[in-house]
Amino acid sequence: MITKFQNLINGKWVDSLSGKTFENRNPANWNEVIGLFPSSSVEDVNLAVISARAAFEKWRLVPAPARGDIMRKIGDLLSKRKEEIAREMTREMGKVLTETRGDVQEGIDTAYYAATEGRRLFGNTVPSELPNKFAMAIRVPIGVAGIITPWNFPLAIPTWKMFPAILSGNTCVFKPAVDTPKTAATLVEVMMEAGLPDGVVNLVHGKGSDVGNAIVTHTDVDLISFTGSTGVGKQLSKDASDTLKRVSLELGGKNAQVVMDDADLDLALEGVLWGAFGTTGQRCTATSRLILHEKIYDKFLEMLVERTSKLRLGDGLLSNAEVGPIINESQRKNTQNYVKIGIKEGAKLVCGGNIATGEELKNGWFHEPTIFSEVKPNMRIATEEIFGPVLSVLKCNSLEDGITLLNKTIYGLSSSLYTKNINDAFKAIRDIQAGITYINVPTIGAEAHMPFGGVKQTGNGHREGGWTVYDFFTEWKAIYIDYSGKLQRAQIDNY
Ligand code: NAD
Repeated sequence: MITKFQNLINGKWVDSLSGKTFENRNPANWNEVIGLFPSSSVEDVNLAVISARAAFEKWRLVPAPARGDIMRKIGDLLSKRKEEIAREMTREMGKVLTETRGDVQEGIDTAYYAATEGRRLFGNTVPSELPNKFAMAIRVPIGVAGIITPWNFPLAIPTWKMFPAILSGNTCVFKPAVDTPKTAATLVEVMMEAGLPDGVVNLVHGKGSDVGNAIVTHTDVDLISFTGSTGVGKQLSKDASDTLKRVSLELGGKNAQVVMDDADLDLALEGVLWGAFGTTGQRCTATSRLILHEKIYDKFLEMLVERTSKLRLGDGLLSNAEVGPIINESQRKNTQNYVKIGIKEGAKLVCGGNIATGEELKNGWFHEPTIFSEVKPNMRIATEEIFGPVLSVLKCNSLEDGITLLNKTIYGLSSSLYTKNINDAFKAIRDIQAGITYINVPTIGAEAHMPFGGVKQTGNGHREGGWTVYDFFTEWKAIYIDYSGKLQRAQIDNY
């Protein structure tokens, strides 16, 4: 018996109006159906937006510290269910259990951060230029937020968006990725259990082209927070422009780790293994280029290939698995396609390159961790986001050369430098074009209370995480109070 899941609209779990559904399956064992989910359409989105709009009128009046109390409860409930949710998430999207536990923890951290932000949401008071006049600026909620998310962090990313949105007094219409609807349903269930009033969060499952587009183009949705591919982000940005809504885009990456000749090579090796093959390379911050100083190039490459070839593939629920499956068939095909491209471009395949075989892997979308050496900066495998377990290795002859190569991309999300030279580290921090720079840390490992986002075509200038995301989910309102009892004209009566 396959479990059937529903949308959440105005506090009620309901089928899509059409009654249509889609299947969700386990990428480590495609024969295993996780559930059936509503294949929704524009009509379902319309109902969700009506619900979110009505709820907004009440929710915006709830004091922010009281909203924060609910966030704290959400954090408590997620903590209590951490293991269960992590297991469910591994089964749904494949990454190994240690990583899905981290995904839930990021949600917990984000909830507790939001809880305390309810007692801050600081505004400014500033002196007026006129006597007996008071000036201040406060943050106000904006309205209905459309939340559109990818599948690779099925819990953490929706929490980065919805917790600050809701804490700020907005309401949400949430459309998760079709590959991870179950984790989304669990998250929303927890949010409701914590005491959110009906309509503050609404969940509508379905395709991006149907549900996602209906949210983006809806005249009564005030803002969109989107994480996904750069291609979809660009289209979405055009689609949203007719209604002039505020849009935050967190998009793709082609992140690099530079290893200098003075680096601790063992440390750099652990870093690149985690950065390139953690989440099977399917992170926006994944290390997909490794730039090695020429003096350590051969030695480091040898160490890397040796360790990579020993990584254990397997169902992420098994305790010995180090690398899980790719999310679905089409993404694995995409990875295979890039392997072919790399070979054709003249790069040297030094590790992996194949669909993984073996009795216990045959029903899942497993792919060998793959390394190309002798990669040239203009090759497609050095410039395009692959979003799979493929690492391109390039050579540099100095720090400046390494940074130039690192910056040679249309993206600018994460970056990493391994060196023991403090001067080089600070030069890199200054010259690297990226939203995140790590020194002696791999390209992955963002913390919930720090700004998260990228430059260039990784986004459109907004940041998630920490205090910065509250700038996106609130509007500034300037307030003047004149207690002089007479008309005072700024710029005129005082000059
Ligand atoms: P995707 O762009 O295919 O889909 C993301 C979401 O957008 C999904 O929910 C999808 O259904 C929806 N969507 C698709 N078409 C749409 C449309 N026309 N209108 C509205 N919504 C639409 O991305 P994905 O495959 O789910 O995720 C992988 C991508 O996400 C990678 O490019 C990765 O780099 C990026 N990503 C970025 C970050 C970041 O913070 N920068 C984090 C994680 C993932």
